[in-house]
Amino acid sequence: MLKTLDTLTLVDKKVLIRLDLNVPMQAGKIKNTERIHRALPTIRYALAQGGIVRLMSHLGRPQPGEMNPDLSLAPIATYLSQVLACPVQLCSDPAELAQATARVALLENVRFFHGETTNDLNLAQQYAACGDIFVMDAFGTAHRQHASTLGVMQVSEQVCAGFLFQDEIKALTQALQSPKTPVLAVVGGAKVSTKLTLLTSLATKVDQLIVGGGIANTFLAAQGYAIGTSLYEPSMITEARAIMAKVEVILPRDVVVASACTATATARVSSITDVQADEMILDMGPEYIKWLPSLIQSVGTLLWNGPLGVFEIPQFADGTRVLAKAIAACSGFSIAGGGDTLAAIAQFKCTNDIDYISTGGGAFLAFIEQGTLPCLPMLTA
Ligand code: AMP
Repeated sequence: MLKTLDTLTLVDKKVLIRLDLNVPMQAGKIKNTERIHRALPTIRYALAQGGIVRLMSHLGRPQPGEMNPDLSLAPIATYLSQVLACPVQLCSDPAELAQATARVALLENVRFFHGETTNDLNLAQQYAACGDIFVMDAFGTAHRQHASTLGVMQVSEQVCAGFLFQDEIKALTQALQSPKTPVLAVVGGAKVSTKLTLLTSLATKVDQLIVGGGIANTFLAAQGYAIGTSLYEPSMITEARAIMAKVEVILPRDVVVASACTATATARVSSITDVQADEMILDMGPEYIKWLPSLIQSVGTLLWNGPLGVFEIPQFADGTRVLAKAIAACSGFSIAGGGDTLAAIAQFKCTNDIDYISTGGGAFLAFIEQGTLPCLPMLTA
């Protein structure tokens, strides 16, 4: 059972909340505020309960010890003060945060500080001194063993999970530990090697596995098909065969091919037995795409990570578009996560119809792979 915020008394307590406010930025402007909005329920609850709110997050990957102005949380402090309708004091280091007087204060990018990414306990202690209660709500960073995600918990007197973290764990637990069957996983994207642990773990948990993108190409090659110049990994053929021995892997019988992966390339529909030596597979074929929704319609639980084709280019986007729409329309419990997956969901406007969209790319995958996260034992009663 997770230790949760709603079981604690917060009146006049300093509530130190680790959030994942790692939003995309361009020229000092926030490009997408989704992560900030997903963090608001915990902040608002702490304020409504009379807490004094202290916030921290990372942004990008600055060099430790270097205050890179491009990665300052200043624009985020400004945005937060607007949506919370109260001043948000930006503090340049933990000592300043400990002394802050405002009701809501935000620490500068934690990755500016030496010792953050190496989980330095001295830094963790400085963070912990800023709060009476530590709240972990940075699910997107929860797979990391950093001073602001793990160390601070080890030295804080009282720790608990925030609402976003709770929702993420609940959705993933529902999908993995007590799923409605049949369970289908869809894993697309470029390379088997970057998702091998995920694929191997899912092979023992799901009834069927759809592979897409460059990953499907490696599986097709493992089945002996000629795949021309397609992106694939010869070194992963043995692993692909081992996965196919464990679970039913669904592969296309028709595909979309082209001579190059460019926006001006001419697409051709091909049987999987007819891919030419100078062609590459860039999407699933129309027969497969027509059949896909009927399979998805009958699943009890569906987990999705990674596109089925090069969805950024219109002539190779149909597979991923139809997949996203079918998942949005299915009555089973659907959960999606991972950077490109979220981009695809946004592109095809399915955000509101997928049961749970995880904010954590790496953490989403790590939880599926390992069934836990480094900070989870400390958040469990
Ligand atoms: P990943 O980060 O592993 O999820 O990979 C996502 C990327 O894989 C996207 O940018 C897609 O364009 C790319 N991708 C999907 N299908 C293919 C394919 N058949 N060939 C090459 N790249 C692909």
